[in-house]
Amino acid sequence: MAITDKIYVKNHQQIASQLETSFPKGAFKGATMDMLFQAENLAKLDDATQDRVLDFATDFMDCACEANPHCGHPEEKFVSYLLDLRAQGLGPDAIVDVMGDDYMLYAYPGDVLSFLDGAVRTLEAVETLADVDGRDDAASEARRKREELL
Ligand SMILES: [Zn+2]
Repeated sequence: MAITDKIYVKNHQQIASQLETSFPKGAFKGATMDMLFQAENLAKLDDATQDRVLDFATDFMDCACEANPHCGHPEEKFVSYLLDLRAQGLGPDAIVDVMGDDYMLYAYPGDVLSFLDGAVRTLEAVETLADVDGRDDAASEARRKREELL
């Protein structure tokens, strides 16, 4: 499962009761995105929640794809966001705190840790393959990115 399948809406119960409906806990579930990003639903949320939902939409759902938000870009952008936080030196617990403050989302620190480990291993594999192929630029780019995550 991708890390974005393990990102949850923090105050899920509260939001569901404000909307007077239920939706999945997973932030990147299609039904969650469809539910939260309708203007009439947004209007039912309290101001603090509305701000976070709008920040999320601005930061991750701003592509012009016809299939938006089901085009895969929100997930890709969220993965970059996580990797950026790691590159800034944050550990899994701090990353979970920041996504809570920024977007009212949460994840289990253990899942974030596995995700970061997986990213490092992927970059190691890319580096090795690029080395074997004699593609020095690609190899050093992968090495640079990997070192940022350590
Ligand atoms: Zn897109």
